[in-house]
Amino acid sequence: MKKVYLDYAATTPCDPEVLKAIEPYFFEKFGNPSSIHAFGQEARHAIEDAREILAKFIGANPDEIIFTSGGTESDNSAIEGVAFAQQKKGNHIITTAIEHHAILEPAKFLERFGFKATLVKVGKDGLVDPLDIKKAITDKTILISVMHANNEIGVVQPITEIGKIAKEKGITFHADAVQTVGHIPVNVNELNVDLLSLSAHKFYGPKGVGALYVRKGTRLEKFMHGGGQEKGKRGSTHNVPGIVGLGKAIQLCADKMEAEAKFQIGLRDQLIKGISARIPDVLLNGHYLKRLPNNVNFSIRYIEGESILLNLDMVGIAASTGSACTSESLEPSHVMLAIGLPHEIAHGSLRITLGRWTTKEDTDYLLESLPKIVDKLRKMSPLYPNK
Ligand code: PLP
Repeated sequence: MKKVYLDYAATTPCDPEVLKAIEPYFFEKFGNPSSIHAFGQEARHAIEDAREILAKFIGANPDEIIFTSGGTESDNSAIEGVAFAQQKKGNHIITTAIEHHAILEPAKFLERFGFKATLVKVGKDGLVDPLDIKKAITDKTILISVMHANNEIGVVQPITEIGKIAKEKGITFHADAVQTVGHIPVNVNELNVDLLSLSAHKFYGPKGVGALYVRKGTRLEKFMHGGGQEKGKRGSTHNVPGIVGLGKAIQLCADKMEAEAKFQIGLRDQLIKGISARIPDVLLNGHYLKRLPNNVNFSIRYIEGESILLNLDMVGIAASTGSACTSESLEPSHVMLAIGLPHEIAHGSLRITLGRWTTKEDTDYLLESLPKIVDKLRKMSPLYPNK
């Protein structure tokens, strides 16, 4: 059976060139980078090379990069690290209603320690209004955290403008760029961010490794207490193969990102037009233009997203209803509810995300298969009025 992967926002395959770069670091070059002998120093150099590649790619200095175990750790470290380091200054955090759980959960956790979080609403198009962020600021606000692009609806937020507001008020600003690094340009100075999270498995690197950019001078409590790794900012023996893989993956993105984005925008727009034309009663979620090159997200009325996924899977197509992390929950996604969809429509969302190995044949196959599946499911649905 044909197999078509259209779930690149959940995770990406590791690029074969990344695999090749990683392999020696499991046996030949297995040293602990904290060791002073030659084995250790070889590993240390590899880490520092990866740090330089990443720093250059996002416009940072190498000493502003902390390697982590992925997007979740980077996000948790940013939220909790700023809160605990700056609690004498205030106890208020501003974030948005559509953030990933890696932001929402630490914000909720901090309430136990006397912090308060304001979740700024988004418009029906999924966009955050910078003025709403400004209005939410109080004299107790110590942190603003807004995601660069949403993982479900792909909407790219006005981070530069929000960063300007944070800067004017002297408030630390974090952006979760897990869905954007390697896909669209990310420059920490242009975006006006103090902290930025990223994760290698979203840009053709390995799983379980990421980074947190921390602008020099940002007050941040350490999140992982242990040895003196990462200049004492994050204990734990470095994941050397992972970090080498992250660096290689970034290097590949630096070469390929522009052309890939252009190609994906073409396929994405064909899909948006094709689905709208072939299937009645569908609604594109997220702003039509201000979205990631690889993201298509539709609500398909009268049927459940899960049923669509299972039926797509039967014909070999892998897609998603939204975030991979919430796929075990039957609750509608908080993102769909935040953009104002009623529960019954929020349940019928389908996310299609494209990537490095997506072809026109793949998207044509989806366009051919999806209308048949929707038609079949609607005919069985008690909610469908036009049987
Ligand atoms: N933030 C966003 C926007 C994400 O999409 C994800 C993963 O889906 C994460 C954070 C968590 O990243 P990781 O899986 O590397 O922990």
